[in-house]
Amino acid sequence: MSNKTKNVYVFGASRTDGDATMKNLLGGKGANLAEMCRLGIVVPPGLTISTEVCTVYTEQGQDAVAKLIEAEVRESVAFIEKEMGKKFGDSSDPLLLSVRSGSRASMPGMMDTILNLGLNDEAVAGLAIKANNERFAWDSYRRFIQMYGDVVMGLKPVSKEEHDPFEVVIDMLKEKKGVELDTDLTTDDLKELVQRFKGLIRARIGREFPTDPWEQLWGSVMAVFQSWNNDRAKVYRELNDIPDAWGTAVNVQAMVFGNLGDNSGTGVAFTRDAGTGEDLFNGEFLINAQGEDVVAGTRTPQQITLEGSQRWAQLAMVSEEDRRSRFPSLEELMPDIYRQLLEAETKLENHYKDMQDVEFTIQEGRLWMLQTRGGKRTGAAMVRIAMEMLRQGMIDEKEALRRVGPDRLNELLHPVFDPAAIKKARSIAHGLPASPGAATGQIVFFADEAEEWVRKGKAVILVRQETSPEDLRGMSVATGILTARGGMTSHAAVVARGMGKCCISGAGAVRVDYHARTMSVGGETYKEGDWISLDGSTGDVFEGQVPTKEAELTGDFGALMELTDKYKRLGIRANADTPDDAKVARTFGAKGIGLCRTEHMFFEGDRIKAVREMILSEDETGRRKALAKLLPMQRGDFEGLFREMSGLAVTIRLLDPPLHEFVPHDEANQKIMAHEMNVPLGVIKMRVDDLHEFNPMMGHRGCRLGITYPEITEMQTRAIIEAALNMKAKGVDVKAEIMVPLVGTVREFNAQAKVIRKTADAVFAERGEKIDYMVGTMIETPRAALIADSIGQQAEFFSFGTNDLTQMAMGFSRDDAGKFLPSYLKDGMYERDPFESIDQKGVGLLVQMAVEKGRAARPGIKLGVCGEHGGDPASIGFFHRTGLDYVSCSPFRVPIARLAAAQAALDAGS
Ligand code: PEP
Ligand code: MG
Repeated sequence: MSNKTKNVYVFGASRTDGDATMKNLLGGKGANLAEMCRLGIVVPPGLTISTEVCTVYTEQGQDAVAKLIEAEVRESVAFIEKEMGKKFGDSSDPLLLSVRSGSRASMPGMMDTILNLGLNDEAVAGLAIKANNERFAWDSYRRFIQMYGDVVMGLKPVSKEEHDPFEVVIDMLKEKKGVELDTDLTTDDLKELVQRFKGLIRARIGREFPTDPWEQLWGSVMAVFQSWNNDRAKVYRELNDIPDAWGTAVNVQAMVFGNLGDNSGTGVAFTRDAGTGEDLFNGEFLINAQGEDVVAGTRTPQQITLEGSQRWAQLAMVSEEDRRSRFPSLEELMPDIYRQLLEAETKLENHYKDMQDVEFTIQEGRLWMLQTRGGKRTGAAMVRIAMEMLRQGMIDEKEALRRVGPDRLNELLHPVFDPAAIKKARSIAHGLPASPGAATGQIVFFADEAEEWVRKGKAVILVRQETSPEDLRGMSVATGILTARGGMTSHAAVVARGMGKCCISGAGAVRVDYHARTMSVGGETYKEGDWISLDGSTGDVFEGQVPTKEAELTGDFGALMELTDKYKRLGIRANADTPDDAKVARTFGAKGIGLCRTEHMFFEGDRIKAVREMILSEDETGRRKALAKLLPMQRGDFEGLFREMSGLAVTIRLLDPPLHEFVPHDEANQKIMAHEMNVPLGVIKMRVDDLHEFNPMMGHRGCRLGITYPEITEMQTRAIIEAALNMKAKGVDVKAEIMVPLVGTVREFNAQAKVIRKTADAVFAERGEKIDYMVGTMIETPRAALIADSIGQQAEFFSFGTNDLTQMAMGFSRDDAGKFLPSYLKDGMYERDPFESIDQKGVGLLVQMAVEKGRAARPGIKLGVCGEHGGDPASIGFFHRTGLDYVSCSPFRVPIARLAAAQAALDAGS
């Protein structure tokens, strides 16, 4: 680096070097401080040492840094001195500084901060006289020694019990003095603390606390650079994908004090409501306090606006009289300061065109702005703020669409826990947030009992080791589902998401004992009937009943959704198995069904008996007899789907799962089955044994079933075509697509297509009437992707089954991956769970290749995806770029997919 490079940038009223566009060089905080100065907002002057210097620190160490920036820092400190009219190191009216980190991306609380820098035994006396407040001066001094001793000199606890060695000293003094609070300590006590702190540092570190302000400053700057590489910062970067190479900037700024008496104070404000998004300036402040007092929460903060204060009083049940005398708003208490603050917040929001979160300090009747940044907000607030800013002409449609995180829409679609109640709730376990929402209910361990309990009017949480399709009905009536095993695409997770039902899967610490009907976790045992609550958005399991509140879909949400349609290219369909699911999907804006898993209908009511009869049959005749019983039921299901989706495509997949999923595996239920079917228990057991496979996911399933038992395909096709004709007769616009699962060879597809077409023709001949329909295939085995050109010549559409494609391409099972994936993710073996977000560099290539080959073989072939990835925003971006026609996801993810598809189109500039 040449010594001509600028490394230090000042900001203040008379000169500012940086601006908001320089985040990479100055960090978010530094860039925004500079921008505020440019806007004429009053900010304590300061300097920012660039992120590039952090790289020099990491690569060459502190001597190199000192050499590089010493002259610039000295010059910049002189600038601060001039702005403040005080001298750094002066003993009569010292300029005190703060030293803070500030990287490109916000890393809250991860790095170190030092306040009140510049104090020593002489300066403290000067400060006391100047501030006319001796106690304040000594309190500032002891706080400085405490922070500096910890952060710069590295005085850390020697044991777990010690926690903070300085706090131990304070506690000892308080005990000696018989006082409880820090604020009860007198000036003399604080003086004693300063001596004790210095003694502690000397004893533990073997060095004196530095009295030279310049030595203090250099020590602090280096410590902040050093903190870029502390453990918590590294972990945070890993979790949030922040590159190590970015480095942090260091901000050195003149100190202002909010604890200089009753005309001083400090606070935090938001330009809009971060919870609801309401366009209402709001926030809190404390009189005679500094920032850490607000964070500590030991005093009740007051509201900034009168309106906010009145609303708060109502909630806190404080009378108007009490409010006015004890908790007046800033608007009432300091009208002039309030007016300045309002002016600054309006200026900042109009400038940044986004909701701002600002920090300020009032020092003896003068307002200083300390920070501004884009405010964190709930999903509901995101939507409302984006749409209101659009209406207010602050942002355009494209920007409004970009302002909402698609996944955050989850919060608007499911019931949520009352945030106040969550704070008090006891978390007992943690699992994968498989399906969002809030659920509270009594524990049951068996699906049939869940149904029974619900029939009696109870709310239940179905707790299982894992779930299987047999549990479907129990799952559908439960308010929530908790499983000890399984990942994000485990049965429980997929089904729960489809139902929009709260589910936590893979809560590994939970031990389920079906015999004892207990669940134990962390040394505690919960029995059937005990209450628990699940937060499906975070994966937290709570003890007892945590109150919930219904989600509200606001008008802004609908308007945002309409806007997505204007910009997205991808079509959005839903994976729906029943007319009810289809209805929900359509109200959320699905334009068709991309996957109906027909087997889910096989568990309803009496059907399972007919399915089992088919499975037990020794020959084709027996199977056909059983299938004939299923036919009218399936036809009825399809009629319902076609009716709900009139005018839109409905893709129906032929039977896919291995048959063993339809028979009971425990003796009690086998006995019931034997009784119901009037066959000996031994026969049932033998058949269940026959069906056993070592790896059923790679066994007798998918089109392999239809090829070995074509009569199944025949029955299902007949049900589909008859339903289509029946609905057409009723004026429904039917667009049926029949889909063959798990194809790996062209012959497999052709064999199934032949059965389908022959059966359809037979129905047409019987009815004397025809209807258009398509026959296509899933691309879900790697081989199918490899030979997609040959398959494309035969199949009229492809739907990528990325769940199976992922498990087969990766070589690990959807059901067993939960054993190692969490630690794999932690160790960075994969960036994201490949079942949740498509592995673009690997599995994604198979999709890309199949798209190219499919289109080459059949231009205009319809291409979609129906694996769980169809509802994942990052994957949707990939599918957009890959050129798919649509994605299909569970009904409750349709709005998320619509928004993600619009953002993908905006990102791609199309
Ligand atoms: C898939 O494999 O991606 C798919 C949609 O089918 P299923 O999840 O039913 O195997
Ligand atoms: Mg599949």
